[in-house]
Amino acid sequence: MNTLKKWLIGTLVAGAIIAGSIIPTKQKEEPQKREPIVIEKTINFENPQRTLNESLERLKPENISEIVYDPDFTHSDNYIKNRFVGHSRRLIEGYLDQARIGTEGHVLCVTGIFDDTGNNKKRTVFARKSLLNSQGINCEADLDSALYHENIHAGEERYGYDFGERIIKGEELVSLFKDKKIRTELIALAGEFDAYSSQIERAGKVEIKPSAIHILNATLNAHQTYSILERSISKEILTPLEIRYTETKMTRHKETIETLKRMR
Ligand SMILES: [Zn+2]
Repeated sequence: MNTLKKWLIGTLVAGAIIAGSIIPTKQKEEPQKREPIVIEKTINFENPQRTLNESLERLKPENISEIVYDPDFTHSDNYIKNRFVGHSRRLIEGYLDQARIGTEGHVLCVTGIFDDTGNNKKRTVFARKSLLNSQGINCEADLDSALYHENIHAGEERYGYDFGERIIKGEELVSLFKDKKIRTELIALAGEFDAYSSQIERAGKVEIKPSAIHILNATLNAHQTYSILERSISKEILTPLEIRYTETKMTRHKETIETLKRMR
């Protein structure tokens, strides 16, 4: 087995660990000596907030107002508590729990509040402690790419959810969730497919490329989310609105989908 092939398999396995997915690998014909994967880390997190501010300055994401290093959820919890002043404790705690579940596996996140969807405001991005040790963030270009991913989510929060022929916002969105005409899980899944695909497309265009492992991670996640969406459509388990939402995302990333299909 040549070195390149070995390196690719090594990075694929590492990527799968990051992406939280399992990739079945073929049994090797002969025992191979395992070489450790060396990931060169050039990003400096001595002062995480400063590094984040620099990324915001470089990328200038149109839908993000600030990025806050929030290792213990203090800032994002306060954001939610301030937003729901006067509401019941149960509702607030529900949102706080949801914010924790929703950010699992994400080193950066935008706190999505459905009632506020489409209010035209730029969003705050919160950075988690896991950012500092993430295998997917090795250089400044990786951080910019991850921030770009959040800019996609923030854009949707800012302008509303795109269902093709129309955009759905705030109260209407909440009532559709309540009536089970759309499900949060599907919206989140299609949103991730959109954000990861956008990252891959941006990586193809920018001059300073993200690291190979970062691109691989985004590709595996785009592939995984696409496969689930595609299967859900073919199994006819989606509501008409969910299909429209998913298809709108898929149309946006037609070319990327062709690349993902070739990975099978
Ligand atoms: Zn995301």
